[in-house]
Amino acid sequence: MYRVYLKSGKEESLKRFHPWVFSGAISHIDGTPEEGDLVDIYTAKRDFIARGHYQIGSIAVRILTFRQDEAINEDFWKRKLQIAYEMRQGIGLCKQPDHTTYRLVHGEGDNLPGLVIDIYGQTAVMQAHSVGMHCCRKQIADALLEVMKGSIRHIYYKSETTLPYKADLGAENGFLIGGSQENVALEYGLKFHIDWAKGQKTGFFVDQRENRALLERYACGRDVLNMFCYTGGFSVYALRGCARLVHSVDSSAKAIELTNQNVRLNFPDDQRHTAYAEDAFKFLDQMDDGQYDLIILDPPAFAKHRDALRNALQGYRKLNVKAMEKIHSGGILFTFSCSQAVSKEQFRTSIFTAAAMTGRSVRILHQLTQPADHPVNIYHPEGEYLKGLVLYVE
Ligand code: SAH
Repeated sequence: MYRVYLKSGKEESLKRFHPWVFSGAISHIDGTPEEGDLVDIYTAKRDFIARGHYQIGSIAVRILTFRQDEAINEDFWKRKLQIAYEMRQGIGLCKQPDHTTYRLVHGEGDNLPGLVIDIYGQTAVMQAHSVGMHCCRKQIADALLEVMKGSIRHIYYKSETTLPYKADLGAENGFLIGGSQENVALEYGLKFHIDWAKGQKTGFFVDQRENRALLERYACGRDVLNMFCYTGGFSVYALRGCARLVHSVDSSAKAIELTNQNVRLNFPDDQRHTAYAEDAFKFLDQMDDGQYDLIILDPPAFAKHRDALRNALQGYRKLNVKAMEKIHSGGILFTFSCSQAVSKEQFRTSIFTAAAMTGRSVRILHQLTQPADHPVNIYHPEGEYLKGLVLYVE
């Protein structure tokens, strides 16, 4: 096993079970590991502290275990996946007849940094965000099939866009096990086509489930604008919640197609819904004052990295000013940020600034975050990425 030695004092975060080693913390390495290899981490005093996957980049090692006697093998993957599965069973997400969609593995949140697994009916969609997880994909897929004993039959692997492009890994999207074309999954009784092959992420934004369910409660009799609709998740919930009309907007024509497909799947021939392929800022500029009394703003991550933070905060502010200026009096605004680089406080400040710029009276009804199947590892607070506010605008 390759040995990575830390600089003196750089073991502190690992002592608190933080799951990453940054390249700047490394003093030297015994040997030359390839990306994806397992390495053991030692302190400057030569004490073992953790074991993980090595990768070239600012995060040099993603930790899999803090125990020297724990080998990373098939049994390890089975144990970890079993723990993740039991947790989802324990919180009532599995085996409900009208609900077949949930996240089984949420990277660091499940002590499996670099791995995401979403379940859509009998298909698991697996995504590697690290070279190490990519190298272990077949072992993980076998372990997954065994742990989930018959409740999944297909495993689709989708890592072409999530792995470092410089590493020549031959990553291809495709089925590792099985091969199903049946791609309709159920979320709280609503049907969604999941396009795991061509869609964003694993094909669906599972993380907005509870927030969509909350929106349904507020939709009755309202004129709803679902901005950045992607697969139309919020729109379908609004329709079930008896909204008066629902307009869905996304700049991607493919997203609009998916939205229309999902609306038809649940509410065929429903005349209340229209979808527009348009830019959000343009649409908000052109809409009428008071046209909508429920607006959802769920933009893509404006800041993918810390360097982009200032522009991102400005982006959130501008977007929210436009919506707050025009929302009908007594309207409700669901506004989100999924940028990990933006903190809860920073997001709230940009929304506060937006409200102050419009001069309208705004009250916070709910403070939202990611659902329980996207858990935050307490030792990795960076894992809390989804932030949302539900605002009442007079
Ligand atoms: N609300 C969705 C997820 C949104 S993902 C859900 O619940 O599933 C963000 C979406 O924003 C993507 O579909 C992307 O195509 C869209 N988008 C990105 N930039 C945009 C822009 N300038 N105007 C409108 N849509 C945009």
